[in-house]
Amino acid sequence: MNVLIINAGSSSLKYQLMDPETGVVSAKGLCERIGIDGRLNHNAHGEKVVKDIPMPTHSEAIAATLEILVDPVNGVIKSVDEIDAVGHRVLHGGMEFFDSCIINDEVIAAIEKCIPLGPLHNPANLMGIRACQAVMPTTPQVAVFDTAFHMTMPPKAYRYAIPTEYFKNDSLRRYGFHGTSHKYVAKRTAELVGKTAFKMVNCHLGNGSSMSAIKDGKCQDTTMGLTPLAGVPMGTRSGDIDAAVVQFICNKYGMNVDECLNMLNKKSGVLALSGNVSSDFRDLENGAKEGNADCALAREKFCYEVAKYVGAYAAAMNGIDVLTFTAGVGENDKGVRAAVCEYLGYLGVEIDPELNNCRGKEVKISTANSKVQVWIVPTNEELMIAQDTAELVKAAK
Ligand code: ADP
Repeated sequence: MNVLIINAGSSSLKYQLMDPETGVVSAKGLCERIGIDGRLNHNAHGEKVVKDIPMPTHSEAIAATLEILVDPVNGVIKSVDEIDAVGHRVLHGGMEFFDSCIINDEVIAAIEKCIPLGPLHNPANLMGIRACQAVMPTTPQVAVFDTAFHMTMPPKAYRYAIPTEYFKNDSLRRYGFHGTSHKYVAKRTAELVGKTAFKMVNCHLGNGSSMSAIKDGKCQDTTMGLTPLAGVPMGTRSGDIDAAVVQFICNKYGMNVDECLNMLNKKSGVLALSGNVSSDFRDLENGAKEGNADCALAREKFCYEVAKYVGAYAAAMNGIDVLTFTAGVGENDKGVRAAVCEYLGYLGVEIDPELNNCRGKEVKISTANSKVQVWIVPTNEELMIAQDTAELVKAAK
């Protein structure tokens, strides 16, 4: 089976052609500068091809993607008919979507209804969906939501303590993101530890970071909120902050709320803490080694906040059995993992420095004595999207 995975952004569109059973990716690429000029970056047969192709809208980007996938030299399939289904990553499912689903007119209308909650991403996701529908009208399309995995949270976790009308009228609440990654890691961890009933905290630590408390495979709580700004500090996002900071900055510096939020999303986090050295944890590590105290503080603050949430979620679930690290930093940065686990001795967490001395591999890094199993579980959001898509399409047949 071939599933085409589409991740449409406002001016870009990422794609992968994957076999959901084996996880093998036969081709992948990126259409960028959509609406500006247009460039296709395509990888297949171990080679990279870059082509300038006019892409006034997402439709031309999809057309260029399909054309190169069937290209006799750079392509991997003979005809578009060999694509069995398309899986779309959609950012915000609001309170409309508890799971992935096959796209029809009602689903499109509900994704539209969620635009106020995901004003930058949902319109782009819809453009990707409509562009695929136009060129592949008979191929089933599936929407996979970044928020859906978190919809099992109880009200005590998702409600904000603000007047009820904002929840009732406007659906303002905690949603959480990276749901496809948390779902994949939860599922894979259950296979690795050989059980289904257990309590885990998954740390998705990348440029954007979020953590989830997961019991028996179901999300109980997560660090991101109405938007991905909440939770632990990230590459350029502040993470949790007293809302009054916004008022103070707007009043003192003559910013409007949008400008202030842009600063909190794009100019804050470890980038800001490091004195603008970098948002990349590798640069921060090098900076810290060279004696830059701000780089050291950025990493220290990040690990401290991650450890605090592990503690909070251990309290929320009355203990944890498994702690997992995933995404760019979680999979690769042994220093961050070690520093986070250092705080968690009181939970009986003990990691083996030698086992921890690795990157990007599925491996248990806790000692035999550790009361909590600690694992590195590399995430694979695309595989999760492909599997959800294949499952729904097969069930509908
Ligand atoms: P995104 O949120 O964009 O998906 P990723 O999960 O790909 O981000 O994570 C990207 C981040 O991972 C980089 O900014 C970098 O800080 C970190 N990273 C990648 N490789 C390493 C490494 N070898 N050591 C430490 N950090 C790394």
